[in-house]
Amino acid sequence: MSTINIYSVIRSILDSIEPGNFSDETIEKLGVLFSEQLLLAALDLIDRDCVIKYILPWGSSHFGVLGLTGPYSVFPNLHHSCPIPFFCTCPAFSYAVLISQSQLTCKHVLATLIAERLSKCVVRNTDSDEFISLVSQQNLQVNT
Ligand SMILES: [Zn+2]
Repeated sequence: MSTINIYSVIRSILDSIEPGNFSDETIEKLGVLFSEQLLLAALDLIDRDCVIKYILPWGSSHFGVLGLTGPYSVFPNLHHSCPIPFFCTCPAFSYAVLISQSQLTCKHVLATLIAERLSKCVVRNTDSDEFISLVSQQNLQVNT
């Protein structure tokens, strides 16, 4: 199975999730694709309200997930021409997904994808100044 196919499989499983309709069967499928450990870690982040959806003044949104070592930016919907359709600024994504390719994604991306479908993101309206400080804070993390 090519990388493109696996991500379209993931997308179709995610599309079947709706608020109040997160079936055991779906959880099982996600557990097989991503490993149970990663799925449980992602569900834990959602339970702890760690997935934040920042609504920006110009109408778009930005996702951030609060991790142990700070907030990470998550980009859950990159253009379909990208080989991997999502990105996270955490170290695990760089090492396990991009470099060693041992995982399909990190727990932050998985949490964001599921939380979006379940409408469980914590929504925050953000003004321009807050957004700029958010981005600069996260750029610092990427560089360190
Ligand atoms: Zn991550």
